[in-house]
Amino acid sequence: MSKTLAIIKPDAVRKRVTGKIIDQILDDGFNIIAMEMLRLNTERAQAFYDVHKERTFYDDLVEFMTSGPCVPMVIEKKKAVTDFRKLIGATNPAEAIEGTIRKQFADNVQNNAVHGSDSNENAAKEIAFFFPSIEI
Ligand code: ATP
Ligand code: MG
Repeated sequence: MSKTLAIIKPDAVRKRVTGKIIDQILDDGFNIIAMEMLRLNTERAQAFYDVHKERTFYDDLVEFMTSGPCVPMVIEKKKAVTDFRKLIGATNPAEAIEGTIRKQFADNVQNNAVHGSDSNENAAKEIAFFFPSIEI
């Protein structure tokens, strides 16, 4: 079993589709190890997306991620990182495959409903960011 960090982003929470997204994660065979609803402040959102700080969309991304509550969770499966990236679909919902979470619930390339870690190394960092007591 391996773990990844998922976040149901503020746009999806606002749309009241948190439960639907959690259902799809469970239906896809993931176990949920930890989960919390919280609101990131600017400093925390900047730190989480630090890798993107030079990108033109960084300030907008931080504003979006602090715009309301989000639901970070640690989920577990045999190939958690790759399977979850597959389940969520392309960053831009216009390019996401039918049936993926972003295809169903994302509005655009920024407000794209969910986050998923992109490597085991980043999953470990991101899990520790939100859930420091979880063993990886
Ligand atoms: P995430 O890291 O949230 O799982 P991702 O790995 O598919 O998404 P990244 O390239 O890491 O995509 O971008 C992080 C987030 O920044 C995206 O999920 C999206 O919310 C936002 N973003 C990415 N590209 C753009 C863009 N061109 N314009 C606006 N926002 C963007
Ligand atoms: Mg990413």
